[in-house]
Amino acid sequence: MTQPLLANKVAVVTGAAQGIGQEIARALHDQGARVVLADLDGDAAQRAAAEIDGGKGNCSGVACDVTSEEQVRALVEGAVGEHGHLDVFVNNAGITRDKSLRKMSVADFDAVITVHLRGTWLGVREASAVMREQKSGSIVNISSLSGKSGNPGQTNYSAAKAGIVGLTKAAAKEVAHHNIRINAIQPGLIRTPMTAAMSPEVFAEREAAVPMKRAGEPAEVAGAVVFLASELSSYITGSVIEVGGGRYM
Ligand code: NAP
Repeated sequence: MTQPLLANKVAVVTGAAQGIGQEIARALHDQGARVVLADLDGDAAQRAAAEIDGGKGNCSGVACDVTSEEQVRALVEGAVGEHGHLDVFVNNAGITRDKSLRKMSVADFDAVITVHLRGTWLGVREASAVMREQKSGSIVNISSLSGKSGNPGQTNYSAAKAGIVGLTKAAAKEVAHHNIRINAIQPGLIRTPMTAAMSPEVFAEREAAVPMKRAGEPAEVAGAVVFLASELSSYITGSVIEVGGGRYM
């Protein structure tokens, strides 16, 4: 029997209680990794972990607000303390506060920038500090096609998601010689609780603009994460993979 792609690996996924993050955790687990699911709501993260592995103990759920330096540090220390090493870290947690420029407040702007940019930066910094000592690791940052194209009503989110690309490339260059790879994924329109908040008309309009004529599923983003997390992508760093059914190609 062939080995699963991530046998003996330890992974952390932020924002993993639902949506894309939970499917990423499931896909990593299905490839043999032990996975720590982190989310604002620790109970929800624990439920998601139990749902994935049926309570066998290969997945655990913890509370972590990615905007907090102390909590992200504790997340990484906790994973290493429990499992002995850290091989994969996925910065997935995210929020939207969509409004036109005329209506968007500084608080809306700051909230989105802080969760995505500071959160991803903290995750990259703390995870790479451990991986640098191990001389191995893969970090995957979830950006968005919104950061490539710019979406009206999302000046905060598009700026944050474009920023994640710059952060990914700069950090990838800093740590490549330690055998740490850092890549980003730009999903398009994916069916999750985040996009369920959109009006059905807007969702249908966006779906019609996708060349493949359908929204994506969280598992389709997770497949790209497994690729970047595993040795299949051993010579790929600083790259951005679009998972958008051809949108903005
Ligand atoms: P989602 O269903 O809203 O899930 C996001 C998760 O992140 C939620 O569990 C959320 O918790 C958590 N979270 C929010 N702020 C956090 C924080 N400060 N610390 C820790 N966890 C936090 O969203 P999704 O659609 O799965 O999106 C996942 C990622 O993909 C995000 O980065 C998003 O920007 C990106 N993305 C999504 C799409 C799409 O079409 N869905 C497209 C492109 C990119 P609460 O529910 O408690 O807030």
